[in-house]
Amino acid sequence: MLRVLKFGGTSVGTLQRIQNVANIIKKYKDNEDSIVAVVSAMSGETNKLIEYANFFSSNPEALELDMLLSSGERVTSALLSIALNEQGYKTTSMSGREAGMITDNNHTSARIQNIDTSNIVKALDDSKIIIVAGFQGVSIDTHRVTTLGRGGSDLSAVALAGALKADICEIYTDVDGIYTTDPRIEPKAKKLSQISYDEMLELASSGAKVLQNRSVEMAKKLNVNLVSRSSFTPEVEGTLITKEENIMEKAIVSGIALDRDQIRVGMYGVIDKPGIASSIFTTLADANINVDMIVQTVGLDGKTNLDFTIPTNDLDKTKSVMEQFQEDSYKIDYNESICKVSIVGVGMKSHTGVASKAFSTLAQNNINIRIISTSEIKISMIIEEKYAELAVRSLHDAYELDK
Ligand code: ADP
Ligand code: ASP
Ligand code: MG
Repeated sequence: MLRVLKFGGTSVGTLQRIQNVANIIKKYKDNEDSIVAVVSAMSGETNKLIEYANFFSSNPEALELDMLLSSGERVTSALLSIALNEQGYKTTSMSGREAGMITDNNHTSARIQNIDTSNIVKALDDSKIIIVAGFQGVSIDTHRVTTLGRGGSDLSAVALAGALKADICEIYTDVDGIYTTDPRIEPKAKKLSQISYDEMLELASSGAKVLQNRSVEMAKKLNVNLVSRSSFTPEVEGTLITKEENIMEKAIVSGIALDRDQIRVGMYGVIDKPGIASSIFTTLADANINVDMIVQTVGLDGKTNLDFTIPTNDLDKTKSVMEQFQEDSYKIDYNESICKVSIVGVGMKSHTGVASKAFSTLAQNNINIRIISTSEIKISMIIEEKYAELAVRSLHDAYELDK
């Protein structure tokens, strides 16, 4: 059986924990499994490197950032390989480039173009355990090192599992599966034994960083058997992320996600005529700013208001891009003290009253909703950040997710 195993930052956060990961891998190998392990940088390492870069520049070149950040994963892949080797196992570490992870040229958030599995296949044929540095690849045209965006080791693992047609892709982290909400916010959260790709994708895209959203998208596309589980309690079965039709009992609401990394941009007195929204959002898209929720109010006297949200990281970029519209005498403000709470469940497709329950629950707690948006299986609400945890817990109670 071919297993792709991914170990996140906390799982390799200390030398002792790397040893612990080596023990997990050994058990599988002793059982005759073929192993490709993908590792993150030690926890905190990527943030530390970004801080180092910011000491010199508030806007370092993306290519240099990739050179810097990709080093974190290389350290852990070599250390884990050395640890296993010392215990008599044949191993080899590989950088993203050596593992054949070929990407586009979009530094710091590169997209995978192709995977050349030849090095990995050869090492597997030699019965080696392969330890791949996650989060990184090589640009198809410039041959420079690229990274896949924050949390990108999940994507490295899923993409490799897909390319190698692995039997399973297990993402080891510090929680033993996918819970109805972040167990750090709501200790009563319940672990799910299964969740559909679509629900997981909505949760991940709405702030549940337990899996990177692009990795879930890729898992769905390539039909990868994806499992989320803990390296601290490897004996505990995790959560299977699978096709909706494989799930017997569909919950109306499966989970609640919280995204604190959102900023609300308000534009007031925007001229109400065709083409204005298009020019604003085209400008933002051209600057690679990921606009999330958008609301435009009904126009009055030829003027309208426009509200939208952006990721916190894009604030400076957004401010400079929006300057050109400020000249058109629109008033623009930025509200950083907001967050987004989302309720996700495939059962919403066929049940009514899910949204009204969310609104009344927040109302009972005196929480004002600034923006609402819905999709077939998700309701998202922008509220003041100080109510974030209260909102998550009271919604968790309202939908009886602890039952
Ligand atoms: P890693 O470093 O292993 O990639 P992450 O920190 O990226 O781990 O993701 C694991 C964290 O995700 C958990 O510690 C948990 O707090 C958080 N999390 C958020 N939402 C959920 C959820 N619904 N179920 C489980 N964990 C969640
Ligand atoms: N080390 C990278 C990050 O912190 C990638 C990862 O851990 O998945 O974002
Ligand atoms: Mg992660």
